[in-house]
Amino acid sequence: MSTIKRVNAAHQNFFGRCKDPKAKKKGSPKFKRSVRSVTWNLRKHKLKTGERVRQNPIRGTGARLNRLKVPKLGEVKIRQHRPLIGDPKEVTLKKTARGWYCFIVCEVPDTLRCVPKSACGVDVGTHDFLTTSDGETTPNPRFYRTAERKLAKLQRVLSRRQRGSNRWYKARVALAKQSDIVACQRLDFIAKTAYSLFHHKGFDAVVAEKLKPSNMIKNRYLAKSISDAAWGMFFDWCDWVAKRDRKHFHQVPSHQTSQTCSQCCQKSKVKLGLAQRVFHCPSCGLKLDRDHNAALNILHRAACALRGEVWDTILYETRNPLLQQACWG
Ligand SMILES: [Zn+2]
Repeated sequence: MSTIKRVNAAHQNFFGRCKDPKAKKKGSPKFKRSVRSVTWNLRKHKLKTGERVRQNPIRGTGARLNRLKVPKLGEVKIRQHRPLIGDPKEVTLKKTARGWYCFIVCEVPDTLRCVPKSACGVDVGTHDFLTTSDGETTPNPRFYRTAERKLAKLQRVLSRRQRGSNRWYKARVALAKQSDIVACQRLDFIAKTAYSLFHHKGFDAVVAEKLKPSNMIKNRYLAKSISDAAWGMFFDWCDWVAKRDRKHFHQVPSHQTSQTCSQCCQKSKVKLGLAQRVFHCPSCGLKLDRDHNAALNILHRAACALRGEVWDTILYETRNPLLQQACWG
């Protein structure tokens, strides 16, 4: 079933590109090597009580390693990282440079979220990965930048070897392994950061800005740093952790969050450059770290959205006491 779905998606996308006059290449669907990934659906079976449930693909052995039941192959030893939640639906085996991974999709029933008692706004950036509205920062680990020289060396070795030879194949695997290490480091960091926001820092609701990293990486000076930070992945993880643990995660529009004063809601007249780390408000004299100021603005925006107000510049101006004085007297 999942194979049919993917073939259908590939063809629908191809037809879409054929109709689109802007698409440069039509790119017809191609066959992929079957060894890259294997997916299968788990069937439902009837219990004696009449209930229909899906069979758990994992056989607990009581020993250190559990076993996964793979169709046409039998049971395979696996190292299970976390217990399954909900009803398992689909299993995917994926081959990467460093081994095989197994993904199990589970159906989880909707649960009621908690009543939020504490909330925090977070601003993401390339200087500090995360700044909360309490002023706490998490430094950006820059995994790709750290491994860049290593990757370049491996890339160079690969390009100098005879294409298709044994040594070329070895160099290719070495490069793929290093890239995989960087990806895993990033995933680990993001998962832990998202978890700590809700659990170690103890916030019931986390608010972030709605960014479009795909548009932002068009800036060729910042593209590598933005891709390395992987904000989109971080927001996805926050959303997932919030759903799982009955917490809240919201995203608010991001325009002018770093250009507006969080105390008097006045927009800065001169655009604050990326190198300027301190926001200085000429109206009320507020001096604050630019990311902290943005995080506070994000939190205010979420509070307004909760009250049903629309956040725009008009609202800023009506709220601003200095401007009101100018208007009314
Ligand atoms: Zn101000």
